[in-house]
Amino acid sequence: MELDARVPSGPIEGRWEKSKFEMKLVNPANKRKYHVIVVGTGLAGGAAAATLAELGYNVKCFCFQDSPRRAHSIAAQGGINAAKNYQNDGDSIFRLFYDTVKGGDFRARESNVYRLAEISVNIIDQAVAQGVPFAREYGGTLANRSFGGAQVSRTFYARGQTGQQLLLGAYQALERQISLGKVDMYPRTEMLDLIVIDGKARGIVTRNLITGETDVHIADAVILGTGGYGNVFYLSTNAKGSNTTAIWRAHKRGALFANPCFTQIHPTCIPVRVAFGCRKRRAITAHRRRFRKTSATTIWNANTRASAIWCRATWPAEPPSGCAMRDGAWVRRG
Ligand SMILES: Cc1cc2nc3c(=O)[nH]c(=O)nc-3n(C[C@H](O)[C@H](O)[C@H](O)COP(=O)(O)OP(=O)(O)OC[C@H]3O[C@@H](n4cnc5c(N)ncnc54)[C@H](O)[C@@H]3O)c2cc1C
Repeated sequence: MELDARVPSGPIEGRWEKSKFEMKLVNPANKRKYHVIVVGTGLAGGAAAATLAELGYNVKCFCFQDSPRRAHSIAAQGGINAAKNYQNDGDSIFRLFYDTVKGGDFRARESNVYRLAEISVNIIDQAVAQGVPFAREYGGTLANRSFGGAQVSRTFYARGQTGQQLLLGAYQALERQISLGKVDMYPRTEMLDLIVIDGKARGIVTRNLITGETDVHIADAVILGTGGYGNVFYLSTNAKGSNTTAIWRAHKRGALFANPCFTQIHPTCIPVRVAFGCRKRRAITAHRRRFRKTSATTIWNANTRASAIWCRATWPAEPPSGCAMRDGAWVRRG
């Protein structure tokens, strides 16, 4: 099997610009001739469906919940990072890229991470345009906070319900396209299988979860925005429905499957006293102290919580010398 990630060539700063330029475009008048299936209505699928419809494509969108709004993205709380450097505290696209690669334990695909950092700047404007009520300073400018141990304040947030507000923004854009007739929405419909024609994903088999009826949908392209995997850990903040059956079926049909270890796991799930308020300074300090004591400081500093949690999850079974287990973490005796 040939593993080809099709990473764009050239210096990292220019890879996506180059790649976008080299892609074939579809004439605006021809877009309405194409049909796209989007499975999922979370921040990924919902936004993709609305955007493709806005561009002129005909979209069919599926989710297993009773409403697109109930995708698990609604649960996200803390915020969204963007290298806008509003605080003038030294942030840049490269710094966000660097922190993200480091926070991902150097396992992420760097071109994609750079792209993420690059478009982070625009995504905030897009969300604001969709009506997402990000927190603002008294003067009216968008507020930022430092999140997850980052050493710059680059997180845009809407109280503790950023995911909810972002999803409602994407949902409104999706609903607009549904009312314009550009998106056919299929709630309460589960993707059962992927249809592959000549090596390309060209359709899906679905089941109506109310009637049990199965159906076939064919299109020019299929996008899976079907979310993360929670059930591998008993303690997960992901809903039980977040079971990745869709990507597993795609894998069974030949799609390569990488990094299942990259699973959403939250501090709130770990049997130590980690409240969601660990984003608050006091708890961060407490954690930094705990991790320092357990020699994980270099990982924790300026890193995401995920990495720190990873380090917790892979903790040695035997206590390091002079350490004892307290509240689920190794701390130095005395
Ligand atoms: C408690 C919590 C807090 C978080 N906080 C943050 C944060 O502060 N910042 C941050 O950046 N991220 C945060 N995250 C992570 C972030 O919310 C998720 O990574 C992101 O929202 C996932 O979006 P998604 O569209 O990929 O998936 P989801 O929102 O899970 O959507 C999946 C969609 O796919 C559909 N689907 C799945 N399988 C099928 C199938 N077989 N057939 C049909 N439809 C299917 C579902 O119906 C759903 O519509 C948090 C997550 C949680 C749980």
